[in-house]
Amino acid sequence: MISLAGKRAVVTGAASGIGRATAELLAELGAAVVLADVDEAGGAEAEQTVIAAGGRAVFVRCDVSDAADCERVIATARDAFGGVDVLFNNAGIIRRSTVCGITEDDWDRVMAVNVKSIMLLSRRAIPLMRAAGGGSIINTGSGWGIKGGADAVSYCASKGAVVNMSRAMAIDHGPDNIRVNCVCPGDTATGMLVEEARQLGGSLEAFYEEAADRPLGRIGTPGDIARTVAFLASDAASFVSGAVIAVDGAGTA
Ligand code: NAD
Repeated sequence: MISLAGKRAVVTGAASGIGRATAELLAELGAAVVLADVDEAGGAEAEQTVIAAGGRAVFVRCDVSDAADCERVIATARDAFGGVDVLFNNAGIIRRSTVCGITEDDWDRVMAVNVKSIMLLSRRAIPLMRAAGGGSIINTGSGWGIKGGADAVSYCASKGAVVNMSRAMAIDHGPDNIRVNCVCPGDTATGMLVEEARQLGGSLEAFYEEAADRPLGRIGTPGDIARTVAFLASDAASFVSGAVIAVDGAGTA
C-alpha cells in the first residue's frame, strides 16, 4: 500500500538510530533521500548503505541548530532532486538534569537542537513543498513531550514544544496541502538510550528490564518508528495532519 516513488525526502539525525532506519526505509520505498547529520563518518556510511541497496541518497554534514547549515540541506535537496516532499525533523539530544542543576548552556543547546532546528529547516522546505502542491512534515517528539519525566527538564520542555509546534504548523500550512504530524517514540534501542543509561550511571539492560512491565513488554526498535514515519510520509496518510502519534507499545497509555 505504501510507495514513496517520486518523492524527495530530507531526514535529520540520519547517521544513526531512528533517523538512519527511516532514511533507509524511505529509500527502499522509492524516495530520494537527503541525509543530514552532524556526524560525518556515520552519515557517509548511511549514505553508502542506501546507495548499495539501490537507493538514491546524498549526505550533508549539518548542525541542525545552525541556520546556514539548514539552508544548505534544503538547497541540496532542491539541486540534487528538484525539491522536497517529505521533511523528517528527527535529530535530537538529551541532557539529564533537574531545573536546579542544569547549566544555561545545556538548556540552550537542547532547545536549539530539538526545537529551533524544526523552524530553521521547515521555513526553507515549506516554500518548495508549496510549489510542488503539498508535502509531509514529521517531527520527532517523545513520550516525554506528552507526559513528564524525571531528571530531564530541558528535554521534556523541548519535546513538549515539538508536540505543540507540530499542531500549530499543521494549522498554518494545511491550506497549502502540507501535512504536519508528530511521532512520539517511547524508549527505543538507539545510541541515545545508551547515552541516557550512561548519564544515569547504568546500562541499557535497566531499560529492557523496566519495559517488561509495560503493555507490549518491550522497548522499541528504530524500525518500529521508521515504519510509522513512512506511513505519515506517504499518500496513504493523506488525511492525517496535526496528529500526535505515540509509538511506544502503549507506554504513555
Ligand atoms: P541517536 O543518538 O541514535 O540519533 C540521533 C542523531 O542525531 C545522531 O546521529 C546524532 O549525530 C544526530 N544529531 C545530534 N545532534 C545533532 C545536531 N546538532 N545536528 C545534526 N544532527 C545531530 O538517537 P535516536 O534515539 O535515534 O534519536 C532520534 C530522535 O528520537 C531524537 O529526537 C530523540 O529525542 C527521539 N527519541 C528517542 C527515544 C529513544 O528512546 N531512543 C525516545 C523518544 C524520542
